[in-house]
Amino acid sequence: MLEQFEGAATIEKVASLCRRRAFVFPSSDIYGGLGSSFDFGHYGVLLNDNVKGEWRRSLIQERDDVVALDSAIILNPEVWVASGHVAGFSDPLVDCRTCKLRFRADQLEQSACGKRPSKHPGEIPDCDLTEPREFNLMFETFVGPVREDASRAFLRPETAQGIFVNFKNITSSMRVKPPFGIAQIGKSFRNEITPGNFLFRMREFEQMEMEFFVPPAEAEEWHRYWVEARRRWHLDLGLRESHLRVRPHELSELSHYSSATSDIEYLYPIGWLELEGVANRGDYDLRQHSEASGTTLEWIGHEERYVPYVIEPAISVVRATLAFLCDAYDEEVVADRPRTLLRLHPRLAPVKAAVLPLIGKDTAMVEQARGLYEDLRKSMSAEYDDAAAIGKRYRRQDEIGTPWALTIDEQTLDDGTITLRDRDTLQQERIPLDGAKRLLLDKLEQPWQPRA
Ligand code: ATP
Repeated sequence: MLEQFEGAATIEKVASLCRRRAFVFPSSDIYGGLGSSFDFGHYGVLLNDNVKGEWRRSLIQERDDVVALDSAIILNPEVWVASGHVAGFSDPLVDCRTCKLRFRADQLEQSACGKRPSKHPGEIPDCDLTEPREFNLMFETFVGPVREDASRAFLRPETAQGIFVNFKNITSSMRVKPPFGIAQIGKSFRNEITPGNFLFRMREFEQMEMEFFVPPAEAEEWHRYWVEARRRWHLDLGLRESHLRVRPHELSELSHYSSATSDIEYLYPIGWLELEGVANRGDYDLRQHSEASGTTLEWIGHEERYVPYVIEPAISVVRATLAFLCDAYDEEVVADRPRTLLRLHPRLAPVKAAVLPLIGKDTAMVEQARGLYEDLRKSMSAEYDDAAAIGKRYRRQDEIGTPWALTIDEQTLDDGTITLRDRDTLQQERIPLDGAKRLLLDKLEQPWQPRA
């Protein structure tokens, strides 16, 4: 088992590239920022969209047993009482009477004293800690004009509950039958107290969750199936196999709703951490909501009637994006010049193709290049760039992870061919301008070999 991240990335280097190249900015930056909050710039938006698109493709588009949902962020507060979140969605916290900081009691070994920060995490020398107290992670708000207990509501800490409370709407309006899934992507909010490592732990983040409803006797088998299917998804999108492991939860770690959970962990440059959780939630949620709402949530077939068990793969967009960025980040020296690049899977890359006229002032080249770019962008995210020396333009595209650069030069004007430059191998080949779009669309469909 690897203990050290293999590759050139550190969280600091990835964060610095993200800021320099408009992927991620600190939130409310000009006011000094806000803890564990980030804003996404142009390329960050495109990358996150591609991550979500690949999730939807594998779970919804390429299957016929999963349907989509987009439920509200603020639900009837009774949902959170029934789900157990009001009583049980908490972390055990300890306060320090000396440095006044608050730590997660289960993460003391990763904490540092506020007064005398130590180089060694876990050393909190002068801290005088209180007994642990439970701290609820849900953000509260008020619905309507009156700030009173009756109008108190919560920002959802997970998207799953919106799925459970729609179980009846969906089973009665769609052609579904267990085993089937309901998939949803949307913002969740948690008042996390431990400051995050860049994107790893945020207070506001998008989750991608799927609740897969199965006959109870098949739950264990489906749990195994989804752990492997989700692990495969990460591998197919380029994460190194040696950077992924599956860790079943100990009994003491299980959430209040779960009868078994396996984490898919990724070896971030800061160590092995949870990338995705795959939980067997049993029939806990449907039963709780049936009881609390008075609406029976069960499956009624021709000959059978039961409360399905639920298998839930849950991951946030940011934890996936951060893992893809760390795995893709690379530095190398080519012809005595350093280059930084993101070896992202082409389907994840924010920009698929850059179209570059070799000489930006050459009208004929510019005309050909603009024509190609305007045709390409109808089918994929593309960029046109005619400023600066060609080497500089290539390096900029390498840093944002653009897999292919198409260069129009003098020969194009003679014979209609262009140069296709590959980001990873740096190989250049001549291809007909006319067939360029078809070629790239085909490449996007093919399996991709990272670091081949
Ligand atoms: P952790 O133990 O790291 O706090 P968790 O076990 O509470 O995570 P779950 O409740 O299982 O997380 O949430 C499902 C998924 O949502 C996680 O696997 C992770 O990908 C993501 N996630 C949870 N909390 C955060 C957060 N604060 N910031 C970003 N992503 C998060």
